[in-house]
Amino acid sequence: MKITCSFLMTLLLCQGALADLNVFVCEPEWQSLLSELGGSHLRITTASTAAQDPHYLQAKPSLIAAIRDADLLVCSGAQLEVGWLPLLLRRSGNAAIQPGSPGHVLAAMLVRRIEVPQSVDRRQGDIHPEGNPHVHLNPANVRRIAQVLGDRLAQLDPANSNDYNIYQTDFLSRWDKASARWRMAAKPLTGIRVMVHHTSFSYLIDWLKLNRLADLEPKPGLPPSAAHLASLLSAYSVNPPIAILRTPYSSARSSKWLAQRLNSRMLELPYTVGGGGTADLFEVFDRTIEMLLKVST
Ligand SMILES: [Zn+2]
Repeated sequence: MKITCSFLMTLLLCQGALADLNVFVCEPEWQSLLSELGGSHLRITTASTAAQDPHYLQAKPSLIAAIRDADLLVCSGAQLEVGWLPLLLRRSGNAAIQPGSPGHVLAAMLVRRIEVPQSVDRRQGDIHPEGNPHVHLNPANVRRIAQVLGDRLAQLDPANSNDYNIYQTDFLSRWDKASARWRMAAKPLTGIRVMVHHTSFSYLIDWLKLNRLADLEPKPGLPPSAAHLASLLSAYSVNPPIAILRTPYSSARSSKWLAQRLNSRMLELPYTVGGGGTADLFEVFDRTIEMLLKVST
């Protein structure tokens, strides 16, 4: 977005408005990816942190203000943000980022989604009616999304398309090298037995071919009940998982109860950028594999 600085605006305000595109992202993983793809051409507002559950965010006035000025919106989609994003979009009065416009990108719609239910009954607590939306934990998905986003930046801001092309090529080259390194490093993880609190790690588990025994949530979004945890304890007490995985925003209580009784490890993985002190998507994968290797040996 081009902004002309009037003489009434302070130098500071003008400096803050120098970016060429205002971008609104729902989750930190997309902030990290867009920083790689857009550099200083973008001013990015991120709606959530790694410590916040992206399923249940508050549509705060500060977010409405940010989305109002956005040229591009990037969220996971597949109904991950269904509880709060539609309200923000309605309140924004911003045609550029409404569904169907080039400024509205849902990452989960760009990749093959897994765990798409045959039929959905929200009364049963399933909050993933369009399949699993936590798509960023497979490097191949990130690659595909980076291709689309890089092209979209060039389309929305043609004056800087040359830069966007250079950033995209550079990112994809570094990402491919890192992906090959991760695959090699993670070989010993094939088949390790894990449980998960929520289905946050399904793409990671799929990619690394871990053996996911069960979820602590009876259905995605339905809190672990005492009866469900007791049934897991009974079913896996003889051959327990080596670890029970959860995100930084998931409560540790159920994992702790079960891990103590099964003699399994509790593992809070970074999940997204900022989790476990990670600074970017590369570090999320580095740290995740490192932590899994540590508990598996
Ligand atoms: Zn979810």
